[in-house]
Amino acid sequence: MLDNLTQRFGRVVKNLRGQAHLTEDNITDMLREVRMALLEADVALPVVKEFISRVKEKSLGQEVVGSLTPGQALVGVVQRELTELMGGASVALNLATQPPAIMLMVGLQGAGKTTTTAKLGKWLKERQKKKVLTVSCDVYRPAAIEQLKTVSAQAGIDFFPSSPDQKPADIAAAAIDYAKRHFYDALFIDTAGRLAIDTAMMTEIRDLHAQVKPIETLFIVDAMLGQDAVNTAKTFAEMLPLTGIILTKLDGDARGGAALSVRQITGKPIKFAGVGEKLDGLEEFHPERMASRILG
Ligand code: GDP
Repeated sequence: MLDNLTQRFGRVVKNLRGQAHLTEDNITDMLREVRMALLEADVALPVVKEFISRVKEKSLGQEVVGSLTPGQALVGVVQRELTELMGGASVALNLATQPPAIMLMVGLQGAGKTTTTAKLGKWLKERQKKKVLTVSCDVYRPAAIEQLKTVSAQAGIDFFPSSPDQKPADIAAAAIDYAKRHFYDALFIDTAGRLAIDTAMMTEIRDLHAQVKPIETLFIVDAMLGQDAVNTAKTFAEMLPLTGIILTKLDGDARGGAALSVRQITGKPIKFAGVGEKLDGLEEFHPERMASRILG
């Protein structure tokens, strides 16, 4: 995960840790390396600039230069700033509502929405002992409904059937009614994705959102798309009140920039990360742990 970035940062950190003295020149060199590593990882330029300037400001202060182990102190500064960049504290999934807690899953086609729906359903069932139901409102691709049925079964969670001749609004209403009557704790509504954002898709999702009033509106996005992932997330966040982001395919050879930029650019927390095709390939996203991982 984020291999290139981790390697680059690992080298910088190794060099720094050994330094008994740090001069402004050392720090400038180090920041140049960090800047390159971030840009190569496809972190958005404004995010990189802001990050570098914050690290620089703190590095030149007493906290680092005046420290007995300045290299170590500087690593600490970078780690704290990376954590901040990813949102500081982790933000848990919100279930604080009258059950069923409705989770609206949105994103582009191929992002990993359906897989992530099953993964998160499985996670809620196994980790939090919740009774989980899934439903697909993707009436454009019959295969999508079948796929959700299959992965829900694999995940050991219940699936509410729907069919392509129904309207998304009717499917959602029927599923909510069923979930209430059968005391489900959570209902995942998988929505139709498109290859790119279009007006028809956004209108449909906004209508669905207004109708079902979800406690969580989760934007699922493929981390491998780098800055494109971040731009798509930004557009969605402007059109829909997202409550969180799930970055998928962080296990791939993703340059990883999305993990570092998306919070800053959209203002929305990353709640989970997809780290594999299997249904247990999902992790809660902890900025601090991710920062330590990146620093190697
Ligand atoms: P949807 O069109 O958004 O519903 O996307 P799918 O759920 O069908 O996923 C598209 C592809 O991405 C599938 O082949 C999934 O197995 C794969 N995928 C989803 N999440 C991950 C992940 O975290 N890691 C990896 N490696 N593959 C994933």
